[in-house]
Amino acid sequence: MNRVVSRCNPPSYNWVGQYQGSGNAPLTAAYNAADGQSECTFTVSPVSIPIFDSPFSLSTTYSHATGFDSAKAPYNTLNVADFGQTGSTAATIVDWMGRDKSSGGFMNGHDGHDWFMDRGTPIRAVADGIVVMARDWPSGATGSDSPDQKEVAIEHTVRGTAGSTYVEKFVTYYAHFQSYSVEVGDVVSKGQQIGLSGNTGSSSGPHLHFSVTRKTNTANALSETVSWFLPPTGHSNSADNTIEPYGWGAPSGFDPWSWRGYPDGVLSIALWNSGQAPSTGTW
Ligand SMILES: [Zn+2]
Repeated sequence: MNRVVSRCNPPSYNWVGQYQGSGNAPLTAAYNAADGQSECTFTVSPVSIPIFDSPFSLSTTYSHATGFDSAKAPYNTLNVADFGQTGSTAATIVDWMGRDKSSGGFMNGHDGHDWFMDRGTPIRAVADGIVVMARDWPSGATGSDSPDQKEVAIEHTVRGTAGSTYVEKFVTYYAHFQSYSVEVGDVVSKGQQIGLSGNTGSSSGPHLHFSVTRKTNTANALSETVSWFLPPTGHSNSADNTIEPYGWGAPSGFDPWSWRGYPDGVLSIALWNSGQAPSTGTW
């Protein structure tokens, strides 16, 4: 099952199409519908690539705090009716089901998921990969265990079947470790312990922050680089190609970042293996 977002007529990109179907069907439909428009971009994406296991044992005692806000700045008000939901026509926080979370006490502009858990909980690589960042990031935060936020990022590569040139690359980011046990260049396996959860950096209580960046097949590039934004500016809205690892599951419409994030839109993909998605509680 694939999704296609077509956008035409730059710089306004005022002609947008969203198509879903099997195999090449949505791309064919998008291409035919765009006949007569100018300078169209077609962004194609599988709905699901199940490659992630949970970053912690699901028998751990944990609770979800806040998730991936699809109403990211500068497109930070959305009409949830576009997604088949009831609620605000100017929702400032929208979850992966297109639901209005503006009044739930969740964090605005958050680019990943936070799960509260005890300090010292083993944290694991969600898939095979290569460590691309492991550092003590001087957040300047006060009130946590250390202003230096201990954090790790791992790059994961998925290739098409033999003979195909299709490739996807994702970077997973884990923050607020008490300690981490990998360094840049390490090859890690799915399920391998990479550190212990904690409360370092910009953190109001012991928790794991987990987010996913999609490097490939964004609206404006086959492959993008990930910047670690030095000097640090905080991780919310840090990159326009962070995605929702639960995918986009609203009754109608597409991931708003895939068609509103001009020119850098990117489609979210459901990445959890069966039975491996941690609970998101009331998110
Ligand atoms: Zn967070």
